[in-house]
Amino acid sequence: MNNEIKPSDDGRAWVEIDLDALAHNASEIRSHLPVGCALMAVVKTDAYGHGMIRCAQRLCAEGITIFGVATIVEGIRLREAIADVDILVLGYTHPKDAKFLYEYALSQIVVDGAHAQQLNDMGFELRVHIALDTGMHRLGIRPGNLEEIESVFSCSNLKVDGIATHLASSDSLDKADVKFTNFQIERFNSIIETLRSKGYDVGKRHAQASHGIFNFSEIAYDYARAGIALYGAMENNDDVYIQHNLRPVLSLKALISQVRWIGAGERISYGGIYTTTKAIKMATVGIGYADGVPRQMSGNDGMCLVGGKKLPILGRICMDMLMIDVTDLEDVKAGDIVTLIGKDSGEEIRCEDFAVASGTISNDILCRLGSRLPRIYY
Ligand SMILES: *Cc1c(COP(=O)(O)O)cnc(C)c1O
Repeated sequence: MNNEIKPSDDGRAWVEIDLDALAHNASEIRSHLPVGCALMAVVKTDAYGHGMIRCAQRLCAEGITIFGVATIVEGIRLREAIADVDILVLGYTHPKDAKFLYEYALSQIVVDGAHAQQLNDMGFELRVHIALDTGMHRLGIRPGNLEEIESVFSCSNLKVDGIATHLASSDSLDKADVKFTNFQIERFNSIIETLRSKGYDVGKRHAQASHGIFNFSEIAYDYARAGIALYGAMENNDDVYIQHNLRPVLSLKALISQVRWIGAGERISYGGIYTTTKAIKMATVGIGYADGVPRQMSGNDGMCLVGGKKLPILGRICMDMLMIDVTDLEDVKAGDIVTLIGKDSGEEIRCEDFAVASGTISNDILCRLGSRLPRIYY
């Protein structure tokens, strides 16, 4: 498609990104970090649907110097856009792709001793961070396996730049969960101490993601890896110790395609899960589950905003469309804007509310927003 002459970005359904809110959140998070701890901006999955390159460029302008991605392909894309920052691949990279880590100057998490050895054997000088499994049981070396950890340091092609772990329950203030998080931290500290006492330079230490930053703010490592907090969509303030002032960065909007009256006793959408009990004015909206509005949200009350009013979704959400009840709105017509996430005339639907209505978390909603939605930046 010729990019000079193309259909309007706001002609059907789209995402709006407030880059000033992103910058504000970065500064808000940094204000909570202990002295000496730098913010690693996690921009995996296209910056949680916000658009990796535009977000990273803005964060770079705000002074962020290290970025976290999940895959080597994301790392390469980011490197092609920004030359002079550190990029850490947080997920597994197959040793056969070591050459790309080298060529694009990406740092790599090593998940165990075998991974380190295989990367080393590829013959490229690589910068790595060692992953320690302190209790999450996802990636990493068990702290008890000291020899395996030490083996990474003896890989001649690998330069150990950091050591990391991931907290499994730092989003919870439940007593048992807090105890578990403290246990993970103690383990992490203790292995670092052991390594240092044996003369190893472990490099940068990092453990916290967004919830860890706010719930366990006393932890003072060298980096804190923030994703969801940057995008201003962390669960309610009540769930975290430190009150924060994060702003939502993303809005999700769509246009009404058609408005008409439907009589009483009519079934609406697939499968007839909803039947009108009286005559209603109904609007069809040009957004569906292919765009990332979860099908499980079908029939949910009040998860759409039109003219400052929260309106119910009627019946099943379709792949490209959904229907809403606009009986209470006098002046509503095709082409009017429906806000699914964001603000409209003093009312607001937050991504967190949208997530709860869909039985999931905001991270899941954001990273599944459809790639066919244009991103409009402010
Ligand atoms: C995704 C991810 C993060 C960011 O998590 P948020 O909860 O979104 O802040 C941090 N660290 C690792 C290893 C991750 O995979």
